[in-house]
Amino acid sequence: MKIAVYPGSFDPVTMGHMNIIERASKLFDEVVIAVLVNSGKTPLFSLEERVELLKIATAHLPSVTIDSFSGLLVEYMDKKKINIIVKGLRAVTDFEYEYSMALMNKKLNHNIETVFMITEDKYAFLSSSKIKEIYKLGARASDLLPPHTEDILIKKIESLKNK
Ligand code: ADP
Repeated sequence: MKIAVYPGSFDPVTMGHMNIIERASKLFDEVVIAVLVNSGKTPLFSLEERVELLKIATAHLPSVTIDSFSGLLVEYMDKKKINIIVKGLRAVTDFEYEYSMALMNKKLNHNIETVFMITEDKYAFLSSSKIKEIYKLGARASDLLPPHTEDILIKKIESLKNK
C-alpha cells in the first residue's frame, strides 16, 4: 500500500489544495491530509473547522482521510508508518523553502521521500492568505474555493466584523 501524507495549515482549503489532493489520490492508494495544529501564525479557522472543511471538500474521494498533527512531521509519519510526503509547488518562491524542508526531513529520517507536484497554472498565484485578504476586503473569487468553504468563509468574516 502506497500511503502519502499531505501536510499544511489549510486555513482554509482552496482549489489549489484540492487540485493537489485529487491528483495525489490517483498516484497513491491512500492520501492522509495532515492539518498542522500550531502553524506559528494565528489561524482564522480553528483546527476543528479546518478539518471539517477538508472533510466536506474531499467527501467524493474515498481514499483521502483527514488527520491533524502538532510538532515534527517526521515524528507523526513515524507513528503512522508513512514515508511519503506530497507537496504542492506554486511559483519559484515556494521552491527554496520546500527544498530545504525536504532536505531537513530527509536528514531527520532517511526513509522519507518528498514528492513535489506542480500546481495547475490557474492556481499558481493562489494561497489561503491571499484568499482571506481579498474576502476580508469584500471581493469574491468563487472559482478558487470549494463552494461550501466559500459560504463558511463569508460567514466567518461577517461574524468577526460584528464583534
Ligand atoms: P497556504 O497557506 O500557502 O495556502 P498551506 O500551508 O495550507 O498553504 O499549504 C499546504 C501545501 O499546499 C503546501 O505544500 C503548499 O505548497 C500547497 N499549496 C497551497 N496552495 C497551493 C496551490 N495554489 N497550488 C498548489 N499547491 C498549493
